[in-house]
Amino acid sequence: MSILVTGGAGYIGSHMVLELISAGEEVVVLDNLTTGFRASVAKEAKLVIGDIGDQELVEQIIREHGVEAVIHFAGSIIVPESVTDPLKYYSNNTAKSRDLLAACVACGVKHFIFSSSAAVYGNPETNPVFEDARLEPVSPYGTSKLMTELMLRDVSAAHDISYAALRYFNVAGADPRGRIGQSTPEATHLIKVACQAALGARPFMEVYGTDYPTGDGTCIRDYIHVSDLARAHLLALVHMRENSGNIVMNCGYGRGFSVLEVVKAVEKAAGHGFDVRMAPRRAGDPAAIVAGAGFVRDVLGWKPEHDDLCEIVAHAYAWEHRLVTSKSAA
Ligand code: UDP
Repeated sequence: MSILVTGGAGYIGSHMVLELISAGEEVVVLDNLTTGFRASVAKEAKLVIGDIGDQELVEQIIREHGVEAVIHFAGSIIVPESVTDPLKYYSNNTAKSRDLLAACVACGVKHFIFSSSAAVYGNPETNPVFEDARLEPVSPYGTSKLMTELMLRDVSAAHDISYAALRYFNVAGADPRGRIGQSTPEATHLIKVACQAALGARPFMEVYGTDYPTGDGTCIRDYIHVSDLARAHLLALVHMRENSGNIVMNCGYGRGFSVLEVVKAVEKAAGHGFDVRMAPRRAGDPAAIVAGAGFVRDVLGWKPEHDDLCEIVAHAYAWEHRLVTSKSAA
């Protein structure tokens, strides 16, 4: 029996592969390497290069490796891009998830874990936001994730497959042992961008909006360490093996930090300041979003190991430093 990880050469997927391997699982990765990296896949896992929309290939992998569960990360993740190119998101995140699910149903896969997003909530009315809050995505990215959640709900009602939809808050950091991290050069996420600015890999960074109704006027987010997030998936898998029913859960720590607090943490990791410019708001950003994260702790027994902004930033910084120095040595 094995676990199929789609997008296992990407940022979160490659951390998931490490977590599964250290738990003694057999792992097959399916990744088309458009944004993932072959080198990010642990050598103990089998890597198949291909597309999740290729139903014939997926069925062949499931049969050949006796796949019991699929953990599905493959997809597109840039929110502003989803606004300008929504069809890309409905294709990569929704339509191809449908094809992947069809292969799972055809081959009798038991469990399906889906990387959903806090973007399904849009602008929450209150914080922390719990799983039963109104689902009103404000970007095609969020809608594409919500559509897949709905598809999972209907498919699991009709077929013998259970699912877990994990709604991620702001995933950051890198493997504490420095083996892997966020390697996509064009990533737009705050902690990565700030680390790049601190390391001189970009000339400056911008703070998008300083007039939000928050303590210091900048947006508040719940930053979760990627290794803690991978552990939450493993616990969901264990739970699904032992219990019937489906899981829809937030993945965050339940506390938030402002953009300026993140910048300060990056200055601390770097040991110096860097060029930070105040800029107008970015379209579609909610002022604050923090996870109501009771389920993952109380039901799955999740005990985060890296719930510390300085530690998250230090791991991200160390990885970025490695990328920058290996690039300048090449
Ligand atoms: N942000 C920023 N400058 C950047 C990137 C992000 O000020 O270069 C802000 C962004 O407006 C948001 C927060 O940082 O308030 C987190 O953004 P990110 O893109 O990391 O994640 P999101 O919350 O959009 O998923």
